[in-house]
Amino acid sequence: MSSLAPLLPGSVALVGGGPGDPGLMTVAGRAAVEQADVLLVDHLAPEGALAWAREEALVVDVSKLPRGAFTPQARINELLVEHARAGRRVVRLKGGDGFVFGRGMEELLACTEAQVEVRVIPGVTSSVAVPALGGIPVTHRGLVQGFSVISGHVPPDHPDSTLDYAALTRSGTTLVVLMGVATLPAITAALLDAGLDPDTPAAVVARGGHPDQQVVRASVTEIATAAAHVDPPAVTVIGAVAAFATSTDTATDTRTLEEVF
Ligand code: SAH
Repeated sequence: MSSLAPLLPGSVALVGGGPGDPGLMTVAGRAAVEQADVLLVDHLAPEGALAWAREEALVVDVSKLPRGAFTPQARINELLVEHARAGRRVVRLKGGDGFVFGRGMEELLACTEAQVEVRVIPGVTSSVAVPALGGIPVTHRGLVQGFSVISGHVPPDHPDSTLDYAALTRSGTTLVVLMGVATLPAITAALLDAGLDPDTPAAVVARGGHPDQQVVRASVTEIATAAAHVDPPAVTVIGAVAAFATSTDTATDTRTLEEVF
């Protein structure tokens, strides 16, 4: 079925909204928003996209903010099913792509288990798009042949962390850290402990796609301090490609690309 097929009453579309800028949503994502009777919206979803919703559409905030509004995932799953069973066209709108640290599969399974028709409309993930908006390619011919996207929601030494930072350090890939603003000092320390070159370029791109986007560039040794003042959400890039960042923070790294490489 084409992602542009009409959204039927009683069905759900899981829509990736891209990072911040509604212009980065897919054509199919926009079409789903335009048809929705109910939109269940995350705090990272592009607010501007709600302007495309029908005037009579019900917009429900189901954010999961650590110190603010909090809707547990189980409740979000129930809401998707309840609204669909009531015959509504339901759109679950979130930032980025729903399958990258987005719990999209849990929502898909909740719908299929309840025999509710569900489609996935992938989104532009912040793990690639936010670096790009800050001038950084996650790969670059001759420089790096891969990238690793990791969640920094827990620090490396936390019992819930399943990441092998020594292996990541050895991997030779660009590291892209999501949900890692508070844990950045611990993450960079773990990488340096594992032998990462202290001069490795790094950059933090905060509020990507928003008018107040900020880019801070520094070495991996200095990035946590240099970026301590940024407002989340933010993506950190560690690796040679981070030297391409178009820094908006002249107080930090002002070296030219020639000096870095
Ligand atoms: N599913 C999302 C990621 C959800 S995890 C995606 O594919 O993009 C949330 C993390 O995404 C944030 O902590 C931050 O690291 C990143 N993020 C999302 N939107 C962002 C934005 N506009 N600017 C910078 N980082 C963003």
